[in-house]
Order: sequence, then structure tokens, then C-alpha cells
Amino acid sequence: MENISGTLRGKPAADALDLETKKAVQALRERGSEDLSYERGAMKRCAADGIEVRQVLLPEDVSQAELLGRIQDLNEDSTVHGILMFRPLPKTLDEQAACAVILPEKDVDGVTAGSMAAVYAGKGAGFAPCTAEAVITMLRYYQVPLRGSRAVVVGRSLVIGKPVAMLLLAEHATVTICHSRTTDLPAVTREADLVVAALGRAEFLGAEYFRAGQTVIDVGINWSGSKQKLVGDVDTEAALQAGAAVSPVPGGVGSVTTAVLASHVARAAQRQAEV
Ligand code: NAP
Repeated sequence: MENISGTLRGKPAADALDLETKKAVQALRERGSEDLSYERGAMKRCAADGIEVRQVLLPEDVSQAELLGRIQDLNEDSTVHGILMFRPLPKTLDEQAACAVILPEKDVDGVTAGSMAAVYAGKGAGFAPCTAEAVITMLRYYQVPLRGSRAVVVGRSLVIGKPVAMLLLAEHATVTICHSRTTDLPAVTREADLVVAALGRAEFLGAEYFRAGQTVIDVGINWSGSKQKLVGDVDTEAALQAGAAVSPVPGGVGSVTTAVLASHVARAAQRQAEV
């Protein structure tokens, strides 16, 4: 902090505020483009799989009552088998309340309490969050042994970390969940047979976190550097050098997520046809 004396020029204060604004705009842009690319990917994948997609676009100033009403309409429409609500919603809306009204049977992105209960209890209506299930889909496809294995999940969000941990537990892995207060994280991850990285920090997990023979699934999506390159939470080159098998970013879990979404819609339609 400079001494408060002499001339108090405005420019440094304006520059400092500008820097903050630029950072905030950049963060919003990243978030927005991430959501838009997920939306485009999801629509393309569903169309390719023969699933009809209906886009319901609401104005930014839509009221909570109108939003809930539109979701209710979709719940009651028997030609709609799955509902995916893109988030974050504008700050004026109660996102949790909106998620809560989606019928668990149609909750193909696993956002309702019913879906969460199904993931945690291992039974019931609803679906796991698509990204969490995409991790398991990758592991199954590559026949990574899970039963009795030591799995470390880095991240404890409700969208990824926690549900991934529950799904791994259901596969009989011994699961450790790490977070920002975990001490000596490299020692914990090095112990694991499987590391799932979902912490949202660009290439944060470097060579010291890995050893030969491990499987590493990188869930991270981060835009890094002045060129805004898409990178994961793992330093892929370093992990490969350490001898681990690593899912890349881009071209790893992300592409599986939309495939899982499409499979959820198909399963939802099957289940609804059976009732
Ligand atoms: P989030 O809500 O920000 O959660 C991040 C978690 O990581 C928190 O639990 C946090 O711990 C933990 N963490 C942060 N810094 C850490 C550190 N230095 N050491 C250990 N743990 C740390 O993020 P999210 O929504 O779960 O997303 C995680 C990543 O997945 C992001 O990069 C996101 O963009 C990406 N993502 C990918 C897909 C896909 O389809 N591939 C979909 C959605 C999101 P605390 O709880 O202690 O704060």
C-alpha cells in the first residue's frame, strides 16, 4: 500500500478496477463458452443418435413462476423423455428450486434430490450426473480393474467429486476423497491405483503426484494462458512421463459426457415406455 499523501490521482485506481473487471468478464466468458460448447455438443450427439432435441429458450428476465411452469409442462409432456436445464441460471432465479421440480425419471443430468439419492443409495429413479458417469464409462471401456483398487478423487463438488466417489464405491474400489484442505496431496495421489482429477485448476497436478502403473482420469476443463488453450487439471505430459495412463484434455472425458447424456435419454424413454 502506498503512503496516503500528496496527489491522489484517479488513474491507478481506475486501472486497478479495470483489471478486476477484465478478470470477471474473462471468467464469465470462459464459463459461457464452456456451457455453450456443452450445449452444442449435447445437441449434436443426441441428433446423431436419433434423439429429437427440443430447445426451450426463455428470456433472461423470466420469472421464477414462469420457469417452474415451463418445467412442469415438460414433466407432463409424454413426448419429452429427458430434461436438461443449462446452468447457471440468472441470479434472479432460484436454481435449486428449479432443479427440484424436474421429474427424477426425466432428470437425465442428475440434478434433482431424487437422482442424488439414487447415486448415493445405489437404487431409485433418476440418473448420475453425466460427467461423473462418464468417468466410470471410460474406466469400464478401458477395462481398468476397480474392485479392491485404491481410488483417489481430487475434488468434492456435488456435480463431480462426490458422485464419482459414490460410483467408484459401488464398483468396490476403496475410495479417498481429497479437497483443498487435504495435506500432502502428492503422497495421497501417488498411493492410488486410480486418480480422478476434478479440482478445476489448470494443469495443477504435476509429475510429483503420479507414479508408474496408475490410471489417471482428468475431468478438468480450464482455459489457460494468453492463447486461452483448453487444458485439464493434470499436466498430461508430466503424468505420462511418470508412467501413468492418462485421459487427455481435450479428447478425454468431455467427449464421453455427451454420449452418457444421450444414453440417459434413451434409458429414460425405455423406462417410461415400461410403466
Ligand atoms: P468445483 O465445484 O470448483 O470444485 C472443485 C473441487 O476441487 C472442490 O472440492 C475444491 O475443494 C477442490 N480443490 C480446489 N483446489 C484444490 C487443490 N489445490 N487441491 C485439492 N483440491 C482442490 O468444480 P467442479 O464443478 O467439481 O469441476 C471440476 C472440474 O471439472 C472443472 O475444471 C470443471 O470445468 C470440470 N468439468 C468438466 C466437465 C466434463 O464434462 N469433463 C463437466 C463439468 C465440469 P474445496 O471443496 O475444499 O473447495
